[in-house]
Amino acid sequence: MSVRDLIILGTSSQQPTRFRNHGAYLFRWNNEGFLFDPGEGTQRQFIFANVAPPVVNRIFVSHFHGDHCLGLGSILMRLNLDKVTHPIHCYYPASGKKYFDRLRYGTIYHENIHVIEHPVLEPGLVHDDGAFKIEATFLEHAVENIGWRITEADTRKFDSAKLNACGIFGPEVKELQRLGKLMVGDKEIHLDDVSCVRVGDSIAVVIDTRVCPQAIEIARNAKILLCESTYMEEHQELAYRHFHLTSKQAAHIAKEANARKLILTHFSARYLNLKPMENEARTIFPETEVAEDLRVFPFPKN
Ligand SMILES: [Zn+2]
Ligand SMILES: [Zn+2]
Repeated sequence: MSVRDLIILGTSSQQPTRFRNHGAYLFRWNNEGFLFDPGEGTQRQFIFANVAPPVVNRIFVSHFHGDHCLGLGSILMRLNLDKVTHPIHCYYPASGKKYFDRLRYGTIYHENIHVIEHPVLEPGLVHDDGAFKIEATFLEHAVENIGWRITEADTRKFDSAKLNACGIFGPEVKELQRLGKLMVGDKEIHLDDVSCVRVGDSIAVVIDTRVCPQAIEIARNAKILLCESTYMEEHQELAYRHFHLTSKQAAHIAKEANARKLILTHFSARYLNLKPMENEARTIFPETEVAEDLRVFPFPKN
């Protein structure tokens, strides 16, 4: 699978509405499926999105408020039902281990899938397998809550015309990559003469927080920042009291972080029309979009 997109499976905060399911966000990226915060009803949202759940191989729970995790048990059971053979990695704040266990084993089922838990104890690098790097930071919410960043490894792209012109073929390309330079006749060819580095993309997920430096840091230069925007600016006081963001605050985070695109989600049920919220954020960060249930945001390679 070489698809690269973000599928929005839900956009509500605590209280779902007729048009907004509890949040859940699926990034399909190279050969991986990263599922963030599966709220209640996520399994059914997969059906509406026309995506088969076995695409998921990593699940992230930012924190254990219900709107971010009530779908965890059912999605694990669904993967079990679908007899997935690949491991399912689960990342969550270590302090919420008891909630994770309750969700995972909340009902009777015969578990055959291979779940690998990664309780996160401290901020920093959580995973690096050479293809993807996963980093975590602790945000400012009423409970321990993690913001995530996923970064694809840099890759080197060879220019076949330049390789031909230099007389480098087949296994010599690998040799050049290994050594960094190669003698061809009496000429020394350097790796950068015939190739360039494609810097890997990164995405950040910041959901449920007050404004804090960690939110900006984890979103630094992200191609997509998926960020909560529970309230509009007129409800700034409520946002602060409930440890949430307004759309303008989310836009400030995107701007400070130099993100490329901001996608807002986790909306309070009080807002029926989200266009004013989008407009408000765009006054600060023009590359803002409001997420909508089942909307797909592709993020092709540069
Ligand atoms: Zn929430
Ligand atoms: Zn919360």
